[in-house]
Amino acid sequence: MKNNVIFACDIGGSKLLCGFVDDNGKIIDTQKAIFPQNYTIETIEEYIIDFYNKLKLRNPECSPYVCGMTIPGLADAKKGMWVYACFSGIGNYPIVERMGKKLQLPIYIENDVNACALAEKVYGVCNDCENYFWMTVSNGVGGAIVINGEVYGGAFGGAGEIGHVVVDENSLICPCGHHGCVEAVAAGPAISTRYEMMTGKKMTSAEISLLARNGEKDAIEIFEKTGEYIGKALGKAASFLNLERYVLGGGVMQSFDLMEYKINEAFRKEAFASPNKDAVIVQTGLKYEAGLLGAAALTYNK
Ligand SMILES: [Zn+2]
Repeated sequence: MKNNVIFACDIGGSKLLCGFVDDNGKIIDTQKAIFPQNYTIETIEEYIIDFYNKLKLRNPECSPYVCGMTIPGLADAKKGMWVYACFSGIGNYPIVERMGKKLQLPIYIENDVNACALAEKVYGVCNDCENYFWMTVSNGVGGAIVINGEVYGGAFGGAGEIGHVVVDENSLICPCGHHGCVEAVAAGPAISTRYEMMTGKKMTSAEISLLARNGEKDAIEIFEKTGEYIGKALGKAASFLNLERYVLGGGVMQSFDLMEYKINEAFRKEAFASPNKDAVIVQTGLKYEAGLLGAAALTYNK
């Protein structure tokens, strides 16, 4: 019987990924689904319980002792509350209490971005580092500041929101109302839009990445510019945070190698140079399953 197993739930805005993960971060088995439209708290709970039972049936040697969950929005980890998620409108949801009863496990929760940042310390590239920044670039852009090994949430829960740092005032407008936020110019949908504006062709950021790898000039240029935007935003963050490491994750960062040079160049150009000369920018060590490992990491030392 394996008794070092964590039940990890990566609850996304539109999907759910659950898995059994051992305490070394090895993923044993997973189960995932897309939520139906207009899902409710009851839907989420039914899915989680169903997945837990399926995973147990498939892995009878595993006996999870704890559960970690990532929340796609504001979470109050201390109170065990899912505070609010704008995608689904779900809020004021005492998920730890309700699911704890149903699963008969102790549960730990955290906002998804914060959880990934912490997972980098447990399973990723920050096991030797206490002060770092985690930035995710996928359909949106988010970030988390880790200080002395803990996420700094800010006075009102909004610290680390690097997505709304302006990097190009003359570029695309952001839903927040500003022009040229890093989210508006460097997230996946923005990469598609900028490529379409340049070439007239509609492509996803993953397809554009593939074109860049095959040497297509416009695609290469789009990714270089994306790298420049990201490096500039990180450089601004470095000037006032002065952290040791900047870790980049999320779907768009699967193309890190296409942007690495430009990210570093823009970072060096933007950041206050002398105190940040030893800071480094690295790709996440969590690979494709960052959210699931993020959920598992919440149970570390618990
Ligand atoms: Zn914005």
